[in-house]
Amino acid sequence: MNGQIYFDNASTTRLCAEALDAMMPHLTECYGNPSSKKYSLGADARSALEKARETVAAALNAEPDEIYFTSGGTESNNWAISGAAQKTPGGAVVVAATEHHAVLKAAAAQKKFGHETVIVPVDGLGFTDTDALRAALEKKAAVVSVMLANNETGTVTRFGPIEQAAHERGVLLHTDAVQAAGHIPIDVKKLNADMLSISAHKFYGPKGVGALYIKRGTDIGPFVFGGSQERGGRAGTENVAGIAGMAEALRTAAAKIPEETERLCALRDRIIGYIKQNIPHAYINGAEGAFRLPGNVNFSMLYVEGDYMLDLFTQSGFCVSSGSACTSGLPGSSHVIDALYAHSPHRGTVKGTARITLGRYNTEREADALLSALPEIVKKLRDNLLYEEFIKSQGK
Ligand SMILES: *Cc1c(COP(=O)(O)O)cnc(C)c1O
Repeated sequence: MNGQIYFDNASTTRLCAEALDAMMPHLTECYGNPSSKKYSLGADARSALEKARETVAAALNAEPDEIYFTSGGTESNNWAISGAAQKTPGGAVVVAATEHHAVLKAAAAQKKFGHETVIVPVDGLGFTDTDALRAALEKKAAVVSVMLANNETGTVTRFGPIEQAAHERGVLLHTDAVQAAGHIPIDVKKLNADMLSISAHKFYGPKGVGALYIKRGTDIGPFVFGGSQERGGRAGTENVAGIAGMAEALRTAAAKIPEETERLCALRDRIIGYIKQNIPHAYINGAEGAFRLPGNVNFSMLYVEGDYMLDLFTQSGFCVSSGSACTSGLPGSSHVIDALYAHSPHRGTVKGTARITLGRYNTEREADALLSALPEIVKKLRDNLLYEEFIKSQGK
């Protein structure tokens, strides 16, 4: 294991054996172009592509003709937002404050085409403020985009009220489900979003491949121009190996959701419990229980620098990720943590944030190793003048 324990599964995941097996033929002997249907090399590639489409659709309770393959979550989000925006001239793009940059920046890019961005605030746990969303929708809107689960805090969106608010006004609804797919059950018919993005490398599939679900009858513009692939919406010879790998990865991950949820929630809640009980002036970011992704732990500490926190985890052999408050002005700062602390008395003093994300290949022993290492890490973090002064000032 080369001395490193990987706790950064929200950044990316290790390719599973099922995905690799599904990819291998398409990286070797089955090299035909899916558009060359006259001979069997091409026809075989085509049938692998359509089989993968059926598998992805089945995992989301979608129809195969509602699945469009892309190069990943970023592209799917960009397509959904620009494709929807261009159908409603002058309509706003309405997004939650905690969206991934692939949504926020895609929204901002629509400004030059006459679409302003409206950013809807979240509460202290990261739930979108539905009253603010309704208020935003009193003006003309082209599309609402609210993610299904947050990549930093793990907060799982209460989607029903958001779906109602958007559709009451007849506005198209997109959801970035990149962190949710393969980790929590997704049923597009129940969610009733018009578009939904997924990315293979977040559920043990290969990097550089994803999909956009577009509900039948939803009219959005094409994204990549050229050949007639993906029904003219996304031109370019398909990444057949990647797509086959994604489909197997999603099928496998979806089947494992019940057992993995139980196992990962137990590990997650042990770590969260330890932090709450043993680290003074530490705060868990995001919702808890069923409204938190199974493998996500995210916490902030008062008077700690995020970079130093990350260095200590790295030196102790743990791959984790940071995300400090934006107000700190430091590189790696997070608009997500900032949005959660918008009305908190700790805004400005919460600086160091660590995200520990567990996945399928993490073991109980690895979680034990983290819990054994935490006291020493915390001791080093707490050995700083600002914190000592803060503690003194509390005593007065
Ligand atoms: C990783 C991620 C993306 C980007 O997906 P890529 O496939 O890496 O482009 C988008 N949204 C969320 C929530 C993510 O976690």
